[in-house]
Amino acid sequence: MPIPEVLKELRESESFLVTVHINPDGDAIGALLGMVRLLEAMGKRAVPVLPKPVPERYHFMSGSDKVSLVEQAGKLGPFDGIVILDAGDYDRIGEVQSLVKDGMRIVNIDHHLSNDSYGNAAYIDTGASATCEMLVDLFRTAKIAIEPDVAELLYTGIMTDTGRFRFSNTTPKVFATCANLVSRGADPDRISKEIYFRTKYETTVLMGHVLTRLLMFADGQIAFSHLDPSEEGMDTEGFIDHLVAITTVEVAVLLRPIGPDEWKISFRATGDVNVSDLAQLFGGGGHAKAAGGIVKGPIDEARKLVVDACIKALPSTAG
Ligand code: 5GP
Ligand code: MN
Repeated sequence: MPIPEVLKELRESESFLVTVHINPDGDAIGALLGMVRLLEAMGKRAVPVLPKPVPERYHFMSGSDKVSLVEQAGKLGPFDGIVILDAGDYDRIGEVQSLVKDGMRIVNIDHHLSNDSYGNAAYIDTGASATCEMLVDLFRTAKIAIEPDVAELLYTGIMTDTGRFRFSNTTPKVFATCANLVSRGADPDRISKEIYFRTKYETTVLMGHVLTRLLMFADGQIAFSHLDPSEEGMDTEGFIDHLVAITTVEVAVLLRPIGPDEWKISFRATGDVNVSDLAQLFGGGGHAKAAGGIVKGPIDEARKLVVDACIKALPSTAG
């Protein structure tokens, strides 16, 4: 759907819930809070809602203290619609689904390859580096000025989803857009410090544990590690980068416990393996070079299931 039609869809309702995928990253939080500001500037009522509190790492972002949890948000209704951002499929909004009532319009705004265009209106741009980049286009087309704190939100999303401007989604447009956001008040130094250089002591210790558990498969093409069940819920942002950086690696995998014998999988790829396809074998999805899913079973079984699937996906063994 072209941008003017998305804007028309937004103009036709008066009140919105706004949400993003579970375990939100910088792009998700930036898009969540940026969309609230766009809707407010359009004269709408917008309530940001998440199943869990905003992770501490993102507390510096303007409006992060105004995000409601599901129960609270339920009391603020009714709403005409819900804007869902950065969520490749509808289930990815988790418990927020319970707030979506019959007759509410669903607006789906996303850049994931695996997005199936759910909702009454879907604005999908798989060429966009980040949902926040799409939001810049929305502000521009709506002719709504991007305030300095909004510029900071949107810059944060693009910086994190491009892996600090180094993934293959780092297009000339990314730099042009970010140049514009910086001229509007986004501070690259402050934002990168907040996101990448404020690691807790416990997180660094945990990273040490994850690195000592590293296993290599298929002549070093697959790097695998995991967290222990006792480490459930701990911050692992960026850990997998150390696995995928190993010279021989094609696919890196990190498993995090999310319940008894249940693991969230993170996949990263360096070259020809499409980990979005791989993740779909595990009920997930994502991007060609970064994706996730879920696997069940004791760690040894879970590891075997995931590693076997990776081996099959390697160019040397595929087909
Ligand atoms: P991460 O490994 O950082 O948690 O996720 C990497 C990428 O995969 C992100 O873009 C994220 O949105 C996507 N992703 C992770 N888990 C899932 C999932 O269960 N389903 C889908 N559709 N995408 C996922
Ligand atoms: Mn994103």
